[in-house]
Amino acid sequence: MKSYRKELWFNVPTRRSFVNITTEIEKCMRESGVKEGLILVNAMHITASVFINDDESGLHKDYDKWLEKLAPHEPVSQYRHNVSEDNADAHMKRQIMGREVVVAITEGKLDFGPWEQIFYGEFDGRRKKRALVKIIGE
Ligand code: ZN
Repeated sequence: MKSYRKELWFNVPTRRSFVNITTEIEKCMRESGVKEGLILVNAMHITASVFINDDESGLHKDYDKWLEKLAPHEPVSQYRHNVSEDNADAHMKRQIMGREVVVAITEGKLDFGPWEQIFYGEFDGRRKKRALVKIIGE
């Protein structure tokens, strides 16, 4: 069995953003040499997500609006977590959008359903953060 590990680094210039990382993940898959197996991709921070959905800008704006309704950033004083921080909303947004995804590799390709793409979801950016890519298979 082959095993592969890589960290993808991000430094998103805004507080919140969605980054399509599908091409990066495909590159990792090729580097790993795995043709049949599984890829795990997880955010390594508790204020960021990795999720799968459509690469459609309207949908991403809808997500941002929806997440802001569920857990508005302002006023930061509404959150008990924010005694010494201002990112309680980012922890909650990450919880809703998820920590990780697992994708099957079949015949050397990511075995996606229609329109599926992999995203890094940033909810407390403007600093260096990373996601883990782990691939196992043969
Ligand atoms: Zn925090």
